[in-house]
Amino acid sequence: MVPDHSSEPPTRLIWLLGHPVAHSLSPRLHNAAFRHQGLDFRYLALDVLPEQLSDVVSQMRSLHVHGANVTIPHKEAVIPLLDCITPEATGIGAVNTIVNDDGQLRGHNTDFAGFGQALRTILQAGAKGLSCLVVGAGGAAKAAVTSLLADGPQRVWVTNRTLERARALCASMAQETRELCIPLALDQAQSLVNKVDLYVNATPVGLPDSVKDFPLAVDTLHSGQVLVDVVYGIEPTPLVLAAREKGALAIDGTEMLLQQAARSYHLWTGREAPLEVMRESITSFEG
Ligand code: NAP
Repeated sequence: MVPDHSSEPPTRLIWLLGHPVAHSLSPRLHNAAFRHQGLDFRYLALDVLPEQLSDVVSQMRSLHVHGANVTIPHKEAVIPLLDCITPEATGIGAVNTIVNDDGQLRGHNTDFAGFGQALRTILQAGAKGLSCLVVGAGGAAKAAVTSLLADGPQRVWVTNRTLERARALCASMAQETRELCIPLALDQAQSLVNKVDLYVNATPVGLPDSVKDFPLAVDTLHSGQVLVDVVYGIEPTPLVLAAREKGALAIDGTEMLLQQAARSYHLWTGREAPLEVMRESITSFEG
């Protein structure tokens, strides 16, 4: 007799919207966690060009897709396509997680908390009292700068290939902390590389299939300094290798990836993410 599946709820789909997405470890770690908890969810990476984003978000509604992650380069562009976004995502100006709540698409930002948690794995007090230099002014940089400012740093310098975006990022920070956030042109920022306590790369430079040349030379880094590279996927990243060679303490974006993923997972499933299963799924990955 053929079993009757007609009353079974359909598999819940989670999409990753980005370009490029081939390097992403998110499908691996989320699918491992869904399997481990026996949840009928599937996470699929979709390579979405900027001109396709609006149609793909409409399809999330029409196909009842349960949720999504949003990555480079869509974290800001997706905002006007959603029904509402959380105050945290509004403050940061970037969305990396979408929940489809009965047709209402709600945008969240879990990168902010993910960055702060990852930073604490190497600096217990986070950025409290530290001078920081952030390279980049996109979604990841906004999450990182917001998190650093929340820690009470001495100062956060923000530099970017397009200086105007670094200025806009600093201007968008909450009024109480904005004066600690200073935009800088790349050529001015170069002289700070060996002076700051904490250096954060929030650009895709070093990402496989992406650009290889760092916007700032890092050969003056030294021991006593800390570097956080948000890029992950090849371990260690070229920037982390270069920093460690100079004696600096350095981590790549793997821990941030895990921490932001755990928060997104909770938003989609209502369950605590099995963090060690997620970690194992990517540390055992050799592809
Ligand atoms: P985004 O919003 O598109 O911003 C990209 C930033 O990088 C912009 O500031 C851009 O400068 C700069 N940039 C791009 N190419 C560059 C180049 N060749 N030289 C110098 N600067 C360049 O992207 P995003 O969402 O912030 O993501 C940035 C990186 O963070 C990606 O690799 C992403 O995978 C990673 N990320 C990791 C995690 C994690 O959990 N580990 C979380 C979030 C993001 P312009 O303004 O001049 O274009």
